[in-house]
Amino acid sequence: MQLMEQELKSHPSLEPQRRLETGEASSLNRYVRRAAIGTAAGLIASIALVATQPNRPLAILLALALGALYGMVVRPAPLAYADSLFTAAALAVAVWGVMSVIVLPALAGEPPRWDVEGVRAVFPEFAGWILYGAILGLTTQAFADGVNRVMGPEALPRKPSAAQATSIVILGGGFAGMTTAENLEREFGADPSVTFTLVSDANALLFTPMLAEVAGSSLEPSHISTPLRTSLHRTAVVRGHVTHVDLETRCVRAASPHGGEDQEIPFHHLVFALGSVSNYFGNENIRNCSFDFKSLLDAIRIRNHVIDMFECADRETDPAIKKEFLTIVIAGGGFAGVELAGALNDFARGILADYPHLRSEDVNVTLVHARDLILPELSPTLGEYARRSMEARGVHFELGRRVMDARPGAVMLDNREIAARTLVWTAGTAPNPLMRECGLKVDKRGAALVDKNLAIAGYKGVWALGDCAAVVDGKTQQPCPPTAQFALREGRALARNIKAAIQGGKLQPFHFDSLGALCVVGHHTAAAELNLPWPIRKSVRFSGLLAWFMWRGIYLSKLPGLERKVRVLIDWIIELFFPRDIVQTIDLK
Ligand SMILES: Cc1cc2nc3c(=O)[nH]c(=O)nc-3n(C[C@H](O)[C@H](O)[C@H](O)COP(=O)(O)OP(=O)(O)OC[C@H]3O[C@@H](n4cnc5c(N)ncnc54)[C@H](O)[C@@H]3O)c2cc1C
Repeated sequence: MQLMEQELKSHPSLEPQRRLETGEASSLNRYVRRAAIGTAAGLIASIALVATQPNRPLAILLALALGALYGMVVRPAPLAYADSLFTAAALAVAVWGVMSVIVLPALAGEPPRWDVEGVRAVFPEFAGWILYGAILGLTTQAFADGVNRVMGPEALPRKPSAAQATSIVILGGGFAGMTTAENLEREFGADPSVTFTLVSDANALLFTPMLAEVAGSSLEPSHISTPLRTSLHRTAVVRGHVTHVDLETRCVRAASPHGGEDQEIPFHHLVFALGSVSNYFGNENIRNCSFDFKSLLDAIRIRNHVIDMFECADRETDPAIKKEFLTIVIAGGGFAGVELAGALNDFARGILADYPHLRSEDVNVTLVHARDLILPELSPTLGEYARRSMEARGVHFELGRRVMDARPGAVMLDNREIAARTLVWTAGTAPNPLMRECGLKVDKRGAALVDKNLAIAGYKGVWALGDCAAVVDGKTQQPCPPTAQFALREGRALARNIKAAIQGGKLQPFHFDSLGALCVVGHHTAAAELNLPWPIRKSVRFSGLLAWFMWRGIYLSKLPGLERKVRVLIDWIIELFFPRDIVQTIDLK
């Protein structure tokens, strides 16, 4: 009987099943395997492109190349058909914008088709790209599941288990911390000789690019946050506020959110990913009279406060006070300030129909910015375009001006005073003060100085990234901007470097070429500046409806988790047909 069981176990036809059940890895290089899956899926999905693109051979080539790229980059979870379909179809919207509107005309020696006529002409190709994406997502998923069954899971190099596990502690559950944890899990697989702990005072990753839409009542707050515990599989998540880090005894202290005993967490490797805080440049009046715009709670408070102001204004008979209630001042003309001004302006004007005693002329959304051009992150033409289209929708601008002081009911600029009951501060941020308090070497903004491998000099196994670190690109020697785009890439690079440091490998300097920037400036309008990759290596700028479509396609595909994607999509569809919700969800008093 025993012999029979042994024979059965080693029978060749049962080998794949046994491998899958035991988790034994296939010996094929994982990237070769993924590229092969993606190419095969791309070939099947090419049907959609061949039927809709004018140049068929090019369509097949593109379908294969993009399929291989998709297969290599995206690693679907088993049987996640809906997620794969949705993600690939959403990515296809962005590819349509880049390929059909910009790259293919450029290769044919024609100008990009981003004017209304041009976009209309390439619109039939849109359906082809969406269908291509959907088929690609589904077939990649099916092939990946099939190959897993036949050949066993992907080969992940494993390290023999050590007597005492190496403990890696990550501080901060934002883009940088969460990506580092996810990639560490991927890099180390099931290796039991390493443990991961993530300490964060929020229990979810906040998708900040969509925060303005929460303040503007377009999206439900919880739909843009992803619980850390759901996304991480073998990382211990500790909800706590880090109050002290002792780099000599190698221990982190975290306060419990409900005032219990502090928790002490020892580490072998420590990652600082604590982000940034609002910087009021020492002005306590502004701090006390303004709203921050960094967290989900900030966005919820702003939305509820604006509704509160409309309620007060509706019963107010004094026209001057009524105007004061309906004036919203936003300090700072960077991405956060501009997107918020656009969203609040749309929201405020959109809900007027519910308030019979208020008129559009009474609403005043004013953006105060210290420079002459808003959106310094984009080119001057796009900044100017954004300003003009926002002005056309009723936003006022105070350019070359600063908010100097504030008191309840008034905001003081350097040239005049604005009677306003709402001030939102996006004009300054500073790296998390804990970086300085820990005794780390910091730059003049307070960001931790790291070398090109994201390591902090002088402390073995201590690393920093994201908004709290002064990261310099290892290739270009340029400082990396504090954006989610960079934080995500730094997280991936850091996970590889930590693994190399533990296993005695070679550390790789961080390098990333920015993909560009997208900014929504109001309903159905956005400004975009995209950096096309090799061989074109050009930066293209466009704006309007196409940019807005791209913004939605790209950010929807980047929002973690299928469930969140569906919820956000449903919110957007509802917004097309129904007025904005004015139910107050928190009592601000
Ligand atoms: C409104 C807004 C819109 C934005 N839009 C874009 C955009 O469109 N594109 C883009 O690329 N970037 C955008 N950004 C910038 C982007 O959000 C940041 O660059 C990015 O979040 C940085 O990631 P991070 O992980 O370093 O910091 P964060 O994402 O801020 O994460 C820091 C984490 O640390 C936690 N934390 C902080 N202090 C402690 C403590 N003492 N103890 C425990 N936990 C702590 C926080 O709760 C948080 O989870 C936007 C930012 C804002 C505010």
